[in-house]
Amino acid sequence: MNWDWFYYLVAGWAGVAVITCIVLIAFNIRSPYGRHTTEGWGKMISNKWGWFFMELPALLIMPILAYAGPNKADLTSMILVGLWVFHYVFRTLIFPFRLRTKNKKMPITIVVSAIFFNGVNGFLNGYFIGFHPDFESFIALNKGVEPNHLWHFTIGICMFFLGMIINRKSDKTLIGLRSSSKEYQIPRGGLFNIISCPNHLGEIIEWTGFAILAMNPAAVSFAIWTFCNLAPRSLNHHSWYKEKFSNYPKKRKALIPYVL
Ligand code: NDP
Repeated sequence: MNWDWFYYLVAGWAGVAVITCIVLIAFNIRSPYGRHTTEGWGKMISNKWGWFFMELPALLIMPILAYAGPNKADLTSMILVGLWVFHYVFRTLIFPFRLRTKNKKMPITIVVSAIFFNGVNGFLNGYFIGFHPDFESFIALNKGVEPNHLWHFTIGICMFFLGMIINRKSDKTLIGLRSSSKEYQIPRGGLFNIISCPNHLGEIIEWTGFAILAMNPAAVSFAIWTFCNLAPRSLNHHSWYKEKFSNYPKKRKALIPYVL
């Protein structure tokens, strides 16, 4: 593996993730969407359409690049693109329109920065599969699943789907809380009994699984970004719950059961 511009770009991008995470936690910065939306972030856009536009670049860019390049579309690329599209069809076209946050808005600044974020992640993951000469030297399942590749394929795909189930089930519970009241409530049941944000934990498990399956730098950088985005957000949600509800369960952690 020769380090070219792509590897430097991915490493830099992952470095930005780590720095962002440290800054968000150190200065207790709350990304201003959802419950943390505040005035002063400029023009606002509908929450639902905000989500749609934020996620669209990832849905489109990754598969287009993956198949636009000279690399052969093999079983490995089909699995990676298939999982990615499976996630982003839901996140872009279904999730936003299930939200029950009527008339809620989010700052356009957030939407624009998320479009950039998803565009870069979609570009890196799609480019590596479609164009990068090293892609075929990573896992090439169509050449036969070799025993030394089988472990990360199996673990990765199991984690991906386990994370997706946790994420979707938890988001469904949270969105469902809005059917009985317009106000925020304390979520209960399942993983909510031990952590405040199982939806975020599920998302982190999902993309860590994708990275283990893909074993390529672009997928690893996206897993790092997911953790660096969602760990601070979970900590913010957790302290917000404790501030808002005096009866918030004391033993509940933010993101990692019994730990964080
Ligand atoms: P939240 O948990 O903040 O909110 C999810 C939905 O549930 C929102 O509609 C929210 O309403 C509602 N909700 C949450 N808690 C309650 C409650 N206690 N009572 C009533 N309603 C509630 O999720 P995020 O907005 O942080 O993320 C949404 C999805 O996007 C998640 O699946 C997350 O994993 C994913 N995501 C992925 C990222 C990545 O880097 N891969 C980055 C960010 C998000 P409201 O909006 O009004 O608060």
